Amino acid sequence: MSFISHSYWTTQQYAATQMSPERLHQVQQQRLRQFLQTTRTHSTYYREKFRHIDTECIDLAEYPVTTKSEMMAHFDQVVTDPGITRKGIEEFIADIRNVRQRFLGKYAVAHTSGSQGQPALIVQNQQELDLLFAFQMTRGNLEYQGALRLLRGACNLWNPTRLAVLINQQGFFPSAWIWQHLPKFMHHFMRFLFVPANDPDLIAKLNAFSPAVLSATPTSLDLLALKIDQLRFPRLRQVVTWSETLTPKARGRIHAAFRTPVMDNYASGECLFMTNGCSTSTGAHINADWVILEVVDENNRPVPPGQMGHKVLMTNLANTVQPFIRYEISDRLVMATEPCGCGNRLPRIETIMGRAADFFWVATSSGYRPLTTYPFQHAFDYLREVREWQAEQVERNRIIVRLEPIPGTTTDLDLARRRLDERLAITGLQHELQISFEVVPRLKTDAHTSKFRRMISRVGVPEDLDAALKNIATNDPQP
Ligand SMILES: [Zn+2]
Repeated sequence: MSFISHSYWTTQQYAATQMSPERLHQVQQQRLRQFLQTTRTHSTYYREKFRHIDTECIDLAEYPVTTKSEMMAHFDQVVTDPGITRKGIEEFIADIRNVRQRFLGKYAVAHTSGSQGQPALIVQNQQELDLLFAFQMTRGNLEYQGALRLLRGACNLWNPTRLAVLINQQGFFPSAWIWQHLPKFMHHFMRFLFVPANDPDLIAKLNAFSPAVLSATPTSLDLLALKIDQLRFPRLRQVVTWSETLTPKARGRIHAAFRTPVMDNYASGECLFMTNGCSTSTGAHINADWVILEVVDENNRPVPPGQMGHKVLMTNLANTVQPFIRYEISDRLVMATEPCGCGNRLPRIETIMGRAADFFWVATSSGYRPLTTYPFQHAFDYLREVREWQAEQVERNRIIVRLEPIPGTTTDLDLARRRLDERLAITGLQHELQISFEVVPRLKTDAHTSKFRRMISRVGVPEDLDAALKNIATNDPQP
């Protein structure tokens, strides 16, 4: 696409937020029909899986669900480009230097966190990336909304939106790598600052950049809020959160500190553009013209709005290279029952539960820092003989790592330790922590919930940090 047609296409992406539910359904069903046909033509796995279903059928309830383990077991037959293989992608992402590259020169690839036991490999096509950025610029951007949006869209060419993103980790994790693949035309509309959340010069860099939109995880924003008196953000219009659950308390604190609307984007690695946050309410609006989310119970029966589902079935209408059709995501959602007051007519998820916010607070010479699950995942997920791992914070800076080998294999502890050291070096925590390793035949589940947890803290949030965070909330000026 040329710059002009690309820009025009981007501005058109606002339209669905104003569609009637009937019109939206029509658009969605047209895309679904085409998507199912394309998938059945080009994916040998789905063609076989759906062989008993009429080729004209677009009633999703007739289609069987897809699980992550199924997707990974049949990966090479699921994907629609015969050049893509699971082995090829695993080799590609094993080399961190590839993080800025496209797989086969055209696909962005990532792996998910594997919080349910096994990481999923994900291949994104250009359409998925274009939609992600177009939605962020239009549906997720308060500057763009309102009656003057087209004029504002044009004005962005002269006065681009300034977006600062605090990145938590490097690697092939969806939230980090995605920024490496920004379409070039976006740079005409937006100015970007990507800065690691643990950069020692974070505040100076943010102040110099002066963001209009600040995008980070709730944890990073909490930490930044503690230094609010050092921040100079005269342009700041909105804060965008992602990745972790945004609790009402955290939302209150962040809103009080930054005095702007807080927009909570909810997505998964399997569909990055799934929602954009709402400026007036909790939760997020589903980009339902391009993704279908079914909130269901344990037996895949629909759960009505206002009630908490057990899981979500996701159908991503944009990704034709690795089709996700009624793909199980274990997040628990409640859909809103009323139209939203913000003016966006797309369906709104009211409550989002289940996103992993697993991390440890550890002490450093410059204050407390969150240690997320990522360094561990990246170190251990691709050690072939490690079936599962678990990290337990037994003292503030003392952690026990337990590795469960695949039966019949031997775990190379030196290699595991080296891999973890490499990942911790990136976070700057390598020399702050005392880490010991254990190899166990079987990792234990939580005695109370009988769920398996990879990150267990025996020490919790430090008391002085807890008090400081509470202090932000009680000083709420209610802007
Ligand atoms: Zn809304």
